[in-house]
Amino acid sequence: MNEKGLKRKYTHPVKVGDISIGGNFPIAVQTMWKQPLQEVDRKLINRIKKLKDLGCDILRFAVPDEQAAHLLGELSKISTSALVADVHFDYKLALIALDYPVAKIRINPGNIGAKWKVKEVILKAKDREVPIRVGVNSGSLPFKLRQLKNTAHAMLEAAEQELEICEQYNFKHIIFSLKSSDAHTTIKANTLFSERYDYPLHLGVTEAGPLIPGIIKNTAALYTLLRMGIGDTIRVSLSSDSVTEIEAAKAIIKTVGYQTAEPNIISCPTCGRTIFPVKDFYEKIKGNIEKLHKDVTIAIMGCPVNGPGEARAADLGITGTQKHVIIFKQGKVIRRELIKNALSVFLEELDRIHE
Ligand code: SF4
Repeated sequence: MNEKGLKRKYTHPVKVGDISIGGNFPIAVQTMWKQPLQEVDRKLINRIKKLKDLGCDILRFAVPDEQAAHLLGELSKISTSALVADVHFDYKLALIALDYPVAKIRINPGNIGAKWKVKEVILKAKDREVPIRVGVNSGSLPFKLRQLKNTAHAMLEAAEQELEICEQYNFKHIIFSLKSSDAHTTIKANTLFSERYDYPLHLGVTEAGPLIPGIIKNTAALYTLLRMGIGDTIRVSLSSDSVTEIEAAKAIIKTVGYQTAEPNIISCPTCGRTIFPVKDFYEKIKGNIEKLHKDVTIAIMGCPVNGPGEARAADLGITGTQKHVIIFKQGKVIRRELIKNALSVFLEELDRIHE
């Protein structure tokens, strides 16, 4: 139990490339590449690196055909990120991807078909020492399980059917996900699974929706599960871009109370009393904060009502007063400046936190 009352359920660790999932390893952040994979070039590699720098530990690619399987394979030879092949329907695509150093294969028990196909993928993954994520989605359960009234139990059963095949071949490098577009069903299915098994869990609400409802559904489910100690890696799926998914995932992990190498940002919502332009100011310093991989609290506040209190409690805080801003560092006022100088002096102080 840590100081925030968190006790993580132990799951046996599984290596995904250089990232360890489960055990006492940090909760890993994942997202999915949102465009078709058509060619491997420097631009693509730089974009993947940018996602990694932002905090993406694992990046998944859709593999809808043989060309995509080979391209992802070639990419996995040169990328420093842990890349995952996401395979539906055609088990042969997983077999192709496994000819390359991909970090993980994701298969969906609802659509991969006969047991012998799953067996082939498992045996090759075992031979190559590549883990598999068995990704159960409530929207694509095997036909028989779709008839069950209790969706969470049906999802558990789908996972168990796949687990049975894996265990038959003594394959243990498995991560499970049980995702529904409904937050309650996601919570229930993962809780049921976690009560029975100690395989690592990848959490997410599938098809969660556009930005605001999507983040709310994901936060409701993922926060609840992580606070219960359930979950080893998360993906916040949104009808939005990958950067937003990563930022949302990192914010959920932080809010749950896990220590992360990311700043905690406090800022006021602004109101009729606002003297200092909080939103514009944050936009100007956002890039510098993103580079600050430290567990510190930064406060940006708009007026003397709540501003000094929050800014004083932060590692570095700024608040507007009349014509001035006051900058606090770990509880002490370190500078009073004219608002027009706020940006340059605050960036100076941010740089000092970097050091
Ligand atoms: S801190 Fe001041 S400006 Fe910000 S919301 Fe509160 S009262 Fe309004």
